[in-house]
Amino acid sequence: MMARIRWHFLKYLKILGLNFKEHWWKFRITIKSLFYNDFMSWSYACDIFMEPILWFVENFTTILGPILVVMVSTLTAIIVYIAYYIGFPYWWEKNPILTIILLIIGNWLLINVIFHYYMGVNISAGYPPSGGLIPEAVSICKKCIKPKPPRTHHCSICDKCVLKMDHHCPWLNNCVGHYNHRHFLQYMAFTVTGVTFIMIFGVEIAYQEFFPDQDPDLHGHPVRINNSEIIPVTESMGHLNPEELAKINLQLEEIKEREWRRKLIIFAGLISVATFAALGTLTFWHAGLIARGETSIEARINSSESVKYKAEGKIYQNPYDFGPRENWRIFLGLKGRSWRQILFPSTHGPYGNGLTWETIHDRNEFNGKIAWN
Ligand SMILES: [Zn+2]
Ligand SMILES: [Zn+2]
Repeated sequence: MMARIRWHFLKYLKILGLNFKEHWWKFRITIKSLFYNDFMSWSYACDIFMEPILWFVENFTTILGPILVVMVSTLTAIIVYIAYYIGFPYWWEKNPILTIILLIIGNWLLINVIFHYYMGVNISAGYPPSGGLIPEAVSICKKCIKPKPPRTHHCSICDKCVLKMDHHCPWLNNCVGHYNHRHFLQYMAFTVTGVTFIMIFGVEIAYQEFFPDQDPDLHGHPVRINNSEIIPVTESMGHLNPEELAKINLQLEEIKEREWRRKLIIFAGLISVATFAALGTLTFWHAGLIARGETSIEARINSSESVKYKAEGKIYQNPYDFGPRENWRIFLGLKGRSWRQILFPSTHGPYGNGLTWETIHDRNEFNGKIAWN
């Protein structure tokens, strides 16, 4: 009797277990079929997850752009004011000839900074023609539903396809691409040189201001004006004759001016160091990209292509890389032009219309050998 009961009990357990497994399997199939997506992959899932974040960044950048342009212009104006208010009198007193040279160099840098910033903000990166024919298309833009020329990418902030797109720059409130790429790089390079110039000829002023040379007449006691000594005197001004009052007022003015000077020096120092670090790194990185004949976007594509090719035992070659020298010549538009057009403001545009691009393969076919190095 006991054995029979146990047997039945086990049998029901087994049936229950099987039923559960079957139900679970059916349930999973149903759920999977409801959410089945042929394109489901990790990158697709990430895209969906990133959508609200990207939406926020895009809208934020649109609002941020004009604010940053005003900020950059204001900061530049303040730095120039500090250079003239503090730097110019200091060097003029020390060495007028050197000051004239510094004025020429400083203004040459300033003109270039202003020119390239203005051009970077106002020159459009270039878009594929909306109605015209595109001579060469490599893909279709899913957002514009239009053919994409080589090196063109869609900018979600501009909501347009951009020729040889590098990136959308909130500091320029503009996309950096085919027609303004040179201005963007030259703006950065001249700004970095400019802040380096300010740091080199400003460090001595800052040092003198905060660690002044000791006056030998005072036997090693530097002159110090103490605010706390003067303020009680000003409170009892009624007891002073006009001459003394004027003297105190003058001293007070001097203190105020000195405090203002110190604030300006600290401000200029902080801005210069921060700009040098941030823009210096960015310029260096972009210089590397240009030497390799690639944009910021292509750098990512090329590195993933290289990995893919390597896995197959092959070597990937960037089709737009003609060697560092030639890449720079193409980028700066130096073919048939002189260096003057790089050292001084020049509005010359890039080669080509950004719709078709010469590749290393074209040159190979033409020359039958690698001849551009
Ligand atoms: Zn597009
Ligand atoms: Zn853009």
